[in-house]
Amino acid sequence: MSPEEKSSKEQELQKEDLLTIHSAKEAEQPFHYSVGRYGSRFLEEMQKNKRFVGVRCPKCSKVYVPPREVCGPCFVKMEEEVEVGPRATLETFTIIRFPYIDPETGDLRPVPFGYGFFKLDGSDTLFQHYFPIDDESKIKIGLKFEPIWKEERVGSVRDIEQFVLVED
Ligand SMILES: [Zn+2]
Repeated sequence: MSPEEKSSKEQELQKEDLLTIHSAKEAEQPFHYSVGRYGSRFLEEMQKNKRFVGVRCPKCSKVYVPPREVCGPCFVKMEEEVEVGPRATLETFTIIRFPYIDPETGDLRPVPFGYGFFKLDGSDTLFQHYFPIDDESKIKIGLKFEPIWKEERVGSVRDIEQFVLVED
């Protein structure tokens, strides 16, 4: 598209009444579902004790976080609860640069911020959460992070505000 065509397209768009979403709560989607016995233990420990618990497979020793009832590859029931974290290694990540309406708050979420896949110490699975971006050049796979807990916790993964880089 030539600069003239682009400019004309922009003018056309400005004339239209584009759909916009305003203020908080319009994106709210209320629903309820059970997280089950294992999910409840996980959330309860985060809420009450700021601890992460996983479950270890009796056959392959893999530790799942959040805990689940059955190890898929081994097809056995898991019952050994283990504490993991709170430190975690960044295994992979993406940086969100486009603002969007956060469905949890109804407000525009400031950018940029990181979305990381963390392996909590002692765990074999990845746990996803946000992390702040102050200096993009400092963010590398393999770095250690730790959670920042909210003061008022309700039993949700959002009881963690975000993970932050551990400064050694
Ligand atoms: Zn297993």
